Amino acid sequence: MIQDNNLIIGGIKLTQLVQRVGQTPFYAYDRQLITNRVTELRKQMPPELKIHYAMKANPMPAVVQHMAGIVDGLDLASAGEMKVALDTTMPKGQISMAGPGKRPQELMQAIAAGITINVESMHELETIAQLCEQSGIQAHVAIRINPAFELKTSGIKMGGGPKQFGIDEERLPEVLKRVNGLGLDFNGFHIYSGSQNLKAESIIEAQQNSIDLAISLSEYCPSPIQKLNIGGGYGIPYFPGESPLDTQQVGDALAKSMAKLKTSHPQTAVIIELGRYLIGEAGIYVCQVIEKKISRGQVFLVVNGGLHHHLAASGNFGQVIRKNYPVTIGNKMNALKNETVNIVGPLCTPLDILANKMELPEAEIGDLVVVFQSGAYGYSASPKDFLSQPMAIEVLV
Ligand SMILES: *Cc1c(COP(=O)(O)O)cnc(C)c1O
Repeated sequence: MIQDNNLIIGGIKLTQLVQRVGQTPFYAYDRQLITNRVTELRKQMPPELKIHYAMKANPMPAVVQHMAGIVDGLDLASAGEMKVALDTTMPKGQISMAGPGKRPQELMQAIAAGITINVESMHELETIAQLCEQSGIQAHVAIRINPAFELKTSGIKMGGGPKQFGIDEERLPEVLKRVNGLGLDFNGFHIYSGSQNLKAESIIEAQQNSIDLAISLSEYCPSPIQKLNIGGGYGIPYFPGESPLDTQQVGDALAKSMAKLKTSHPQTAVIIELGRYLIGEAGIYVCQVIEKKISRGQVFLVVNGGLHHHLAASGNFGQVIRKNYPVTIGNKMNALKNETVNIVGPLCTPLDILANKMELPEAEIGDLVVVFQSGAYGYSASPKDFLSQPMAIEVLV
């Protein structure tokens, strides 16, 4: 939305939001956009499906609290994230912890908190059992499986083949026997195979495989599968030529797989866990032009933010070939795009780029550079200390 040549975020004109925040750079997340995203997704997914928020995408406490009011659960991966999750209104029974390297201290905190631990190794299982014995508190565990299949055409693969995540599918019968022997409260499986996927067919296949895998393992389970977390991986488009994921197609296929599961496992709740898809498009990063220079015919806008706040937009967070995130001049929304510019940050490294040869409205010192698709893997995934620059601010509007 645009008003007076300005981008509108959270119902506020960008220039006014800058005044309100009191500085640039900052991140702004639009709570209405987050809510709309969850509402739309629920319409497309089967009604009984539980939607969880994966906190690592954006752990800002106000965002997590907002999510807690609109999703069915929170998934986290450290004691630090657990603290934020436990400060929200989300019931403990709907919070789970994953991660390949959980320290005993973190495991004890999770046991004491009463959240579900997604166990990722036999050693972790034994440690949990010991901690339960010492503390007299029963742990709730799910087994994270490293499946034999993978999530095809995924930006980031986290299952299939040799991986540090989860326990190899082949070892599950042995592991489940041990869970029973240790007297832990077994509540199901966690199967997470990948991230940032835009192909409905690939996600459908992985979801079907996950459900089939759980069914085939159920005979080894010490008790009925209460929860089956089939992961997520729903991606968002970042670059020219990428189209949004067809979530309706995914939802229709999932309804069929869930109906099949229900015939043999009526008590099993199916869960998906999403980070990027729920928040990625609801956030912007805003910084300001502090220098404009020309070098051998090319225009450089030097801004007061960059890689140290937004590693992903600089292209250094897992991109193989650097591509530009969508960028605009937020206080010149109606102006013609008549200048080709490079937008670079203040750091003394050529890696500090926010836009490479992009067509944008002619910008001057003081203008506001906005990076879209910045709600997920933005500030918390960036090296804030690099070159001792000032911090950014995050606001939920
Ligand atoms: C990273 C991660 C997620 C979230 O991935 P998105 O691509 O942000 O949806 C969910 N679950 C697990 C186990 C993860 O590691």
